[in-house]
Amino acid sequence: MLEGKVAVITGSTDGIGLAIARALAAQKVDIMLNGFGEASAIDALRRELAQAHGVRVCHSPADLSVGTEATQLIETATRELGRVDILVNNAGTQHKSVVEQHPLDKWNLVLGLNLTAPFQTIRAALPQMRERGWGRIINIASIYGLVGGYERSSYVASKHGLVGLTKAVALETAGSPITCNAICPGDVSTRIFYKTAKDLALRENISREEAQRRVAATNMPSGNTVAPEQVAALAAFLCSASASEMRGAALSMDGGWQAR
Ligand code: NAD
Repeated sequence: MLEGKVAVITGSTDGIGLAIARALAAQKVDIMLNGFGEASAIDALRRELAQAHGVRVCHSPADLSVGTEATQLIETATRELGRVDILVNNAGTQHKSVVEQHPLDKWNLVLGLNLTAPFQTIRAALPQMRERGWGRIINIASIYGLVGGYERSSYVASKHGLVGLTKAVALETAGSPITCNAICPGDVSTRIFYKTAKDLALRENISREEAQRRVAATNMPSGNTVAPEQVAALAAFLCSASASEMRGAALSMDGGWQAR
């Protein structure tokens, strides 16, 4: 069903975004990667994905926290791949500090990348989705889009904002075959999780496995982290025909975090 469609996945040279790119490429979707990294590594990734799945794969290094680069990313994808059918707003960042010490520039950076960039990409991609009569918009929010958290006011505000943007766009597109939903993961086992666990293992002189278990259990009632591939599978499901009446949902995948 997805063969020949084009997906833009922001922040997809690593982590959750890369897992989503892999899952969609496996369904024969042409991919516009975005994100930072060594040019040679990104080129190897691009070729690997294209060869493994027989799809076209491009990359844009657009820095989505800057000006209108998020809008330009959609223009680049349309120029290079011909269209944008699936938009996954995944790139995100955070700054940890209590609110009274939170620097304004960091607030603007977090809100800019996590909320203003998705606004820009959606605004730029929606007209052509309407023209072709099909589209999927998936916003990777966070459990912090649904509940509060300490020392991360900008992140919590941006992710709540992203859930709000999801609902607003879902209503504006409700009469069409275009859907907009958010995924709200708890702790996901991306690079930072493994680094935190490795540091803990060294500090406490415990095994890597024990350190990973302890880090996972900090927030997750299940004691497990979510795998990036699990988030990717949910994103792929949201692109399927079965999900055509899922609209404006904020789907948690959080090991029970929100249920506490
Ligand atoms: P990551 O740090 O592993 O990867 C981030 C990707 O975004 C990379 O490809 C990076 O190059 C790219 N990127 C960073 N800044 C960018 C910018 N300014 N412009 C364009 N690309 C940029 O991230 P992740 O942990 O996979 O998180 C992805 C998303 O999922 C984020 O929105 C994050 O808030 C959300 N999330 C992550 C977790 C988690 O535990 N990892 C949990 C809940 C939600």
